[in-house]
Amino acid sequence: MNKIEHLGVAVKSLEASNLLFEKLLGAAHYKIEEVASEGVRTSFFKCGPNKIELLEATSEDSPIAEFIEKKGEGVHHVAFAVGDIVAEMERLKNEGFTLLNEVPKKGADNKLVAFVHPKSANGMLIELCQEIPSPTLPGGEEVS
Ligand code: ZN
Repeated sequence: MNKIEHLGVAVKSLEASNLLFEKLLGAAHYKIEEVASEGVRTSFFKCGPNKIELLEATSEDSPIAEFIEKKGEGVHHVAFAVGDIVAEMERLKNEGFTLLNEVPKKGADNKLVAFVHPKSANGMLIELCQEIPSPTLPGGEEVS
């Protein structure tokens, strides 16, 4: 793991929370991106070298809708930047962590992502993310 890449925060309304975080951080979000495969719309903020991702559900069966239903709005995941996501997934599996993905998939912000089950990490949902060098995955198609 190289560094914390961003914090993910589950919100009910991206519009309302964009305004709130703009006031909080003193800077506007720099992008909004929908990840249809995850049923989320995201916005990103910078805070010095760090990033915050707000996540809004776009469907009722989105993981974000389920999270808010159970726990309410709040910190949803911590994302770590990794150099080689496949190697890191293998390492964590060998260390006994439960992964929620068998293979990396395309996430927001031009990243390949995979998640570690919170039950195997002290209740914390962990996202691994690796920057994608080109706009598409090797092979061309999105992995889902
Ligand atoms: Zn994230």
